[in-house]
Amino acid sequence: MTRFVRCLVDGEPAYGVLDGDEVALIEPHPFATHRPTGRRVPVEGLRLLAPVIPSKIVAVGRNYADHAAELGGTVPDEPLLFLKPSTAVIGPGDPIRLPTDVSADVHHEGEVAVVIGALISRVTPEVAAKAILGVTCANDVTLRDVQRRESQWARAKGFDGSCPLGPAITTGLDLADLRVRTSVDGEPRQDGHTRDMVFDIPGLVAEISRTMTLLPGDVVLTGSPAGVGPLRPGERVRVEIDGVGALENPVVDRDAEPSAATA
Ligand code: MG
Repeated sequence: MTRFVRCLVDGEPAYGVLDGDEVALIEPHPFATHRPTGRRVPVEGLRLLAPVIPSKIVAVGRNYADHAAELGGTVPDEPLLFLKPSTAVIGPGDPIRLPTDVSADVHHEGEVAVVIGALISRVTPEVAAKAILGVTCANDVTLRDVQRRESQWARAKGFDGSCPLGPAITTGLDLADLRVRTSVDGEPRQDGHTRDMVFDIPGLVAEISRTMTLLPGDVVLTGSPAGVGPLRPGERVRVEIDGVGALENPVVDRDAEPSAATA
């Protein structure tokens, strides 16, 4: 099991492998043959970044029956896919800036994300499973009111900051045995397990590859278990997967923040 992180070193993004209380830096990145640089930096005080900036994020809706039911929907016969843009990605500790002028009902959706390690197109679930580099935590932050009134989810799920990712990409985990928990200010909100998915992860990735080539570094969000709920300015949301760690983000009203010009 390897835990890859992306972090800021001397003001530049760098990749490394978590090793105790240090990060052993690597080059160039986990999506190609890589080697240690020999430099190690302490984790303490290190600014972690989103572990990847993908070419695309493919996400699936209603992949847990309990969540489909809470939204009043049924479980689809085939995966209900949508895209989030790369500009939606933020990292651990980055604020989720609520677009309160657009939405009055922004929800957390804590999810298991898988990061693709190889180019795949039209592959079987077995090949898809081998092409997955590892697992990270994701929050599919959603403008629920916008989602309910629009048939396309580009705005509702693609706004800036709508895809916190991190803190690490962990390899070697059993994809069928992952527990993902989400809390807000320490209060439990979601507690799901990948065994309860409608479409399991290798099958989902294979299905996506039937229509879209997946590239190294692409991210697949595998759906949210029940318990989604609102985020409010001043709160702190946490998504946690055993073996990966916890992804925490503060929530702010983007219009209540001092702008860069006045700060
Ligand atoms: Mg979702």
